[in-house]
Amino acid sequence: MRYHDITKDDMKNGDGLRVVLWVSGCEHACPGCQNPITWDPDEGLVFDEAAKTELYEALGRDYISGITFSGGDPLFPGNRDVILELLRSIRKDFPGKTIWLYTGYLWEDICGLEHMRFLDVLVDGPFLQRQKDNRLCWKGSKNQRVIDVPRSLAECVSDEGLPVKEPVLHCEDYFYLREEGNYSHAKGCSI
Ligand code: SF4
Repeated sequence: MRYHDITKDDMKNGDGLRVVLWVSGCEHACPGCQNPITWDPDEGLVFDEAAKTELYEALGRDYISGITFSGGDPLFPGNRDVILELLRSIRKDFPGKTIWLYTGYLWEDICGLEHMRFLDVLVDGPFLQRQKDNRLCWKGSKNQRVIDVPRSLAECVSDEGLPVKEPVLHCEDYFYLREEGNYSHAKGCSI
């Protein structure tokens, strides 16, 4: 697996201050994507032990709430094995931190993946330009869902890993509000 960046105090990709791993590889080709440079799985840096160490050092800081996997698509088929291993080790080594993951796939198609067992929140679905709204918190277009993964697995997925009803949302749509030059958050936002 390759990656483009590790950001270490991100406020726009999940609750609190987060470390974000921006991986290479995505097959969704959403028109209007802000990161087309990340589509090619052969671009970027190899995610090696040094990169994992860098990630761990950043994640270990007290004020960091957790890690977000983004890209690209962390669930691009060529990324899945490495991401699964990373999820497993982060969950074990940082039990107090939350794990978010952004993907262009729909919850209904991936809820049976083992990866889900390690996530707190999944933001799913492709970016749709016609549903774009810059004020949305945690997502680029209205079709995407900010999903509470543990509750959704418990309440909305069969023993065979198939969806039986709509997933539970981590939060409803809420918006960044501009007030006197600053951004604040509307009701429902947890930061
Ligand atoms: S899933 Fe994300 S990275 Fe992939 S094309 Fe769509 S917006 Fe871009």
